Amino acid sequence: MSETQPSRIAILGAGQLALMLAEAAKTLLVEVSCAGQESDCASRVAKVITVDLEDASEVANFAKSSDVVTIETENIDISIVEGLPLAPNARAIGIAQDRLAEKLFLQSCGISCAPFRSVDSVQDLRSAVQELGFPAILKTRRMGYDGKGQKRIYSDGDLDGAFEDLGKVPCVLEGVVRFDAEVSLIAARSRTGEIVFYPLIENVHREGILRRSTVPFAGVTNAMQSQAEGYLKRTLEELEYVGVLAVEFFVVGGKLVANEMAPRVHNSGHWTIEGSKTSQFENHLRAILGMKLGSTDSVPTVMLNCIGKMPSAAETATTPAVWRHDYGKTARPGRKVGHLTLPGSQHEAIERWYLLLNPEE
Ligand code: AMP
Repeated sequence: MSETQPSRIAILGAGQLALMLAEAAKTLLVEVSCAGQESDCASRVAKVITVDLEDASEVANFAKSSDVVTIETENIDISIVEGLPLAPNARAIGIAQDRLAEKLFLQSCGISCAPFRSVDSVQDLRSAVQELGFPAILKTRRMGYDGKGQKRIYSDGDLDGAFEDLGKVPCVLEGVVRFDAEVSLIAARSRTGEIVFYPLIENVHREGILRRSTVPFAGVTNAMQSQAEGYLKRTLEELEYVGVLAVEFFVVGGKLVANEMAPRVHNSGHWTIEGSKTSQFENHLRAILGMKLGSTDSVPTVMLNCIGKMPSAAETATTPAVWRHDYGKTARPGRKVGHLTLPGSQHEAIERWYLLLNPEE
């Protein structure tokens, strides 16, 4: 590494994404510190400094001994981080944290989105459903994740309640997309402009939470992979983006309709730790450090999220090839506490584990 190459990384946040970034940093022999609380899960492998992420002077103080600052969530106050050596940059994060700005941006890159309308009042909502019809989904523009901050709307009787339940904040109304599948594409762009893509990933969600990611997507064609790569290339270059970016799509009749983008490493890419030559975490670090990106050659792999409960090591040991990632978080209903990764050829074990982890199905 040359003297001018950045080597000290600060991560805003210390949850499971920071934990897996810090694990990858060890293999690259770079120094990572995370801003969070001592009890956060990244503290098992990295230095975690107690920082109030809503306090500009605390954040600036934390960041000052680092060459590059990165994020594990887009839900941060842009005014606080704007002057820092951020990767990805503040513009990309600002767009991705506002569903309306994100859709307008994606459309400006020539990427189709579900039909949507901006909603700031119940009156707006009434006119929006007249145009988009029922059913529709009302989503808060900001702070939505894992299905939080959204309400399905089936009839006129739902309008007032939905807007009120979401806190009467600025929203977007989206038409419900009748999709054949949900997929995501993860790409990394380095400081030098080099870009690499992983294969399209098929994702299964329930109650708005990702349950399972599969590579390769059974319905993928060369044309679809190329279309997705073209979309991400335009997005990355337009934003002068540095780091890993994920875009989630609906597949409708073989075409891709964008749902949302994440300016960070993404849950649907956790399988890359074992399933790809270079994980999304290592490629994110390589990108922000200005290093050459690693190969994304991948083998068929499935990732299952553990929601609300982590199976014990003794339980997972009953399956010959399963990698168990326990984030060390206190179990709570609906909370992601870990994930399992399995080679894609273990069909019977995958289905068995999927049902064990999702007994309601
Ligand atoms: P989001 O938080 O926007 O990613 O939404 C979480 C999940 O809800 C998605 O992965 C889909 O399964 C579902 N969903 C969100 N928006 C739509 C839509 N416009 N049409 C159909 N399903 C949707």
